[in-house]
Amino acid sequence: MKELKELTRENIWNLAPYSCARNEFSGRNAKVYLDANENPYNGPLNRYPDPLQLEVKKQLAKVKGVAEDCIFLGNGSDEAIDLMYRCFTEPKVDNVVAMDPTYGMYKVCADINDVEYRTVSLNEDFSLNADNILAACDNHTKVIWLCSPNNPTGNALDRGAIEKILKDFEGLVVVDEAYCDFSSQKPFRTELSKYPNIVVLNTMSKAWGSAGIRLGMAFASKDIIDILNKVKYPYNVNALTQREALELLADPYEVDKWVRTILLERSRVVDAIKVLPICRKVYPTDANFVLVEVDDARKTYEYLVDRGIIVRNRNSVHLCNGCLRITIGTKTENQELLAALRTM
Ligand SMILES: *Cc1c(COP(=O)(O)O)cnc(C)c1O
Repeated sequence: MKELKELTRENIWNLAPYSCARNEFSGRNAKVYLDANENPYNGPLNRYPDPLQLEVKKQLAKVKGVAEDCIFLGNGSDEAIDLMYRCFTEPKVDNVVAMDPTYGMYKVCADINDVEYRTVSLNEDFSLNADNILAACDNHTKVIWLCSPNNPTGNALDRGAIEKILKDFEGLVVVDEAYCDFSSQKPFRTELSKYPNIVVLNTMSKAWGSAGIRLGMAFASKDIIDILNKVKYPYNVNALTQREALELLADPYEVDKWVRTILLERSRVVDAIKVLPICRKVYPTDANFVLVEVDDARKTYEYLVDRGIIVRNRNSVHLCNGCLRITIGTKTENQELLAALRTM
């Protein structure tokens, strides 16, 4: 890996971050807070939240097996994705490399930040060719985006291919593991010390059932996390979200139960879709959704919309011609979907 200083935008490396009122006083006992121009009434929400979310990180560290100072928390993973550009890429000069198809936010954030976004096609079976990814990189490639299990294809990437990229690429490698709870593959977040250039993304939005609270996380070396923290808005994760996250983290077994139920439903839905006359192919999935190729994706999509059932039409996505992406719902919801498809 190149020196982190070399990978970081010069102005960001030299940035003096905003200093919050409560940061300046440290540790000692306090009972009267007159430092932040807060209203003394309407507690506890009258107070600014902890800018570094230390209580949440303490619990997350236990649940995720990652050291507290190797955790960044943001307003969804989307904040971490955007920060990767703002911290490590120089607009109009640097580039990033990503697989195609993959999650759309990597490109949107590249466009917003005016950074060149290079794509490398996955193989027809949605597997990753590490050599092709590495061949697309040049001296200005700062970040490689990998998503495993991948959205919208559903498959986990081959671990060996990811490891090759981590070892052979000199810049940063993001491995977005938003769906790792649904996969039997070992996650990368516990191997931070082995790969100094890895940034693993996780989110509360999928297995943790909390897309509404907007809490995403990045796991990386302390040095990388420190840079993300320096650039984020000081109070990027609000007090209500931090409180709700602590409640969720107090009962991770509830999440395990949800995941087990969803996995059971997933295999039931996959088996049922496979035997539908309109079904051409069900792609293997390691996520809480399944990509299905049907005879006529647009027609099937509209047919379902007319019955109040919304799936994602991925017909115009590279390699996904004729495909719908279907999220696994409750047993009743899946039943409704299957009933509708059977009578099409
Ligand atoms: C859903 C999803 C996320 C989650 O984004 P949030 O901003 O945390 O809700 C991240 N990455 C991928 C690939 C996703 O599909």
